[in-house]
Amino acid sequence: MSRLVIVSNRVAIPAEGKGLVSAGGLAVAVNEAFSAYEGLWFGWSGEITENPDPEPRLIDRGRVQYAVLDLSPQDYKEYYAGFANRALWPIMHYRVGLGSYSRSDYAGYQRVNRLFARALAKLLEPDDLVWVHDYHLIPLASELRGQGVDNPIGYFHHIPWPGADVFNTLPASGDLLRAIADYDLIGLQTDPDVQNLSRNLIDDMRAIPLGGGSLMVDGRRTRIRSFPIGIDVTGFKEAADKAGTNKVVRETMAGLRTRKLLIGVDRLDYSKGVPERMEAVDCFFASNPDQRGNVVYIQITPKSRSEVPEYEQLSREVNEKVGDINGMLGEPAWTPIQYVTKAYPRPVLAGLYRAARVGLVTPMRDGMNLVAKEYVVAQSADDPGVLVLSKFAGAARQMSEALLVNPYDRFEMAEAIREALYMPREERLARWKPMNERMKREDVDWWARNFMTELENFRTLDRSPP
Ligand code: UDP
Repeated sequence: MSRLVIVSNRVAIPAEGKGLVSAGGLAVAVNEAFSAYEGLWFGWSGEITENPDPEPRLIDRGRVQYAVLDLSPQDYKEYYAGFANRALWPIMHYRVGLGSYSRSDYAGYQRVNRLFARALAKLLEPDDLVWVHDYHLIPLASELRGQGVDNPIGYFHHIPWPGADVFNTLPASGDLLRAIADYDLIGLQTDPDVQNLSRNLIDDMRAIPLGGGSLMVDGRRTRIRSFPIGIDVTGFKEAADKAGTNKVVRETMAGLRTRKLLIGVDRLDYSKGVPERMEAVDCFFASNPDQRGNVVYIQITPKSRSEVPEYEQLSREVNEKVGDINGMLGEPAWTPIQYVTKAYPRPVLAGLYRAARVGLVTPMRDGMNLVAKEYVVAQSADDPGVLVLSKFAGAARQMSEALLVNPYDRFEMAEAIREALYMPREERLARWKPMNERMKREDVDWWARNFMTELENFRTLDRSPP
């Protein structure tokens, strides 16, 4: 059996005697990918230490081995908090004004990619398939090639790829385009992302289209395709079915009494459109005063990347907005927005999704958005709720039956909330059924299998010019 080597910024090592950790999206996806292969999962341990050992710690857990490196405080600051999250993340999410580039951060990004490549190259065997995940590691294939690695290497980009006019504002854009072409296979979430990256390579790197999504860049062949990531549908449905037994869910439902629930679940990130959504809810109550007291909006927003200044600023902005809206509209017996910054496990989320008449998923821009998919599969088949979904989420391409909205238009969002709350059961069913079927077909297993089948082809494919 050939080995699959997964590389990601963070590695989720399960406790001894336990299976793979299956909490976050990437861990679930990696779990699926390993179901058909023996494996190695390589990346950052999550620890920050002075003078970290350049040799990875190896940890065996059944058929998967883990190899992890610590980062130094400088690595963390420059590679992770700096270039990846202050320069790449905003640009990839079309937020040119929020991008903050520094040469030292970029040097740190390159340095950590080189450190990773040096450590990983020693662990690779000739038959291994290598699958690299996400924007922290764009130059990894190029660094591995520099170490003489000739294995098939695939890359999956979990976030959007913007148009060239946006991407090229990043000072390191040329380097990154050159580097990404060293992957054999590049997976993106949607077809527009594929078109953006392909055009960028053709226009700026003089790539030559070879048909079927393949490009020749600097004498090397690479293939770019969309692979929309899915969720663990069976697991989520089971969790939603059992959620009535969960204490948090039971208490929340008891607190709601007959009130209808709107739910939002997002990391605290400016790409998710949380303040804009709160304004839309405010606008909904302003234009539907009869609904005051009848509807509650729960927003679950675990903090993330608090060391990045833009996230601290967002946290203050959201706190202020919640306070303003609750203060202006609320009554002693009714709080319109219940805002929680704790992270909840899957069983709780599944139960709250099921209890919510409306799922509000309105990112300003999102690679995919798994919450949208989770909300749909958590609904009951006889009385499903309604998904209000931003047209700028990758998920919108597979979920056209949702109420699609422009998150920059709070009035349109407020109208969609009203439409969702008043939607008759037949229409809710007619919208939900096809989406639910699609989620079942295009689940996380389908996603991982498609990517791996394609990557397998590169064992035999000639990479040289035709
Ligand atoms: N999530 C969670 N607990 C929380 C909030 C979110 O487990 O309190 C999970 C959520 O169920 C989903 C993931 O985090 O699987 C978020 O994925 P998504 O694609 O929506 O956004 P990302 O955070 O990856 O940008």
